[in-house]
Amino acid sequence: MNTERTCPVCHNREYSPFADEKIDPKKVGSLTYASRKPPEFMCLRLVRCSSCDLVYAPSPPTASFLQAAYSSADFDSTPEANAAAATYAHVLGPHLKKLESRQAAVDVGAGSGALLPWLQKQGFKQVIGIEPSRAAIDAAPPGVRSLLREGMFSTSMLEGETPSLICSFMTLEHLPDPGEFVTTAHSLLERDGAIAVVVHNWRAPLNRLLGLRSPIIDVEHLQLFSPQSLRELLERAGFEEVALRAIRNTYPLRYWLRLTPLPKTLKIPLLGLLERLGLADRYLSFNVGNMLAVGIKSK
Ligand SMILES: [Zn+2]
Repeated sequence: MNTERTCPVCHNREYSPFADEKIDPKKVGSLTYASRKPPEFMCLRLVRCSSCDLVYAPSPPTASFLQAAYSSADFDSTPEANAAAATYAHVLGPHLKKLESRQAAVDVGAGSGALLPWLQKQGFKQVIGIEPSRAAIDAAPPGVRSLLREGMFSTSMLEGETPSLICSFMTLEHLPDPGEFVTTAHSLLERDGAIAVVVHNWRAPLNRLLGLRSPIIDVEHLQLFSPQSLRELLERAGFEEVALRAIRNTYPLRYWLRLTPLPKTLKIPLLGLLERLGLADRYLSFNVGNMLAVGIKSK
């Protein structure tokens, strides 16, 4: 038996139960570690840190297992990836106006690189996406693929770079050590550079309402943040002026339907109905309990 890890944000060991382990080995497939997929209602045992409010798995799979799982994960979501990138561009825009320097911009967990062309348009001298999944990189358009670097985020992947911006969307939940991630980001960034992350907020009303049926309850998630724990994560790494806000995600209606915890026997006829009505590809924005945090490296 592995010994339990401490809270990956504050390193406390005191916690209360949050969710029991629920894993069906027969259901673990190639999409389990893919970025956008139907909910599987599987999760690791989760606890809530009594000190910083993080929900986390005290006994996650090993880092080498995760690296192998993500490098071989399928990628089947180009339209959704583009919709997500548009959402992130929208929420990031106002923060970039305050960023004086435009050296490299790095997107960690970049998928097929959907956000990278937008970052190029913002005038960054270099744009780099880091992504562990080969299938996601192969799904990138040819002009974007050359911006993607295959692997897990580390100092060695960014040798010689001093980025002005490091961003990461819906990725922190998946990392074996999110504290190490933000500390590395802080050490790499130039002075006055910014980190921007979007994560699920487990305390958001919709997630509290759905409880263990929420799509955030997922075997891939090694931790789930609340505003308190996300702020603490960034501040412990040395980031200042940490700003947090809820965001609205924009997706086609067919994707929203896919995310709902409805049974397949209902989803399939509903999707057929939306398609007949010509509504399946209509874009709608909802606050589904995600939050953006931006922090500055002031010194
Ligand atoms: Zn904690």
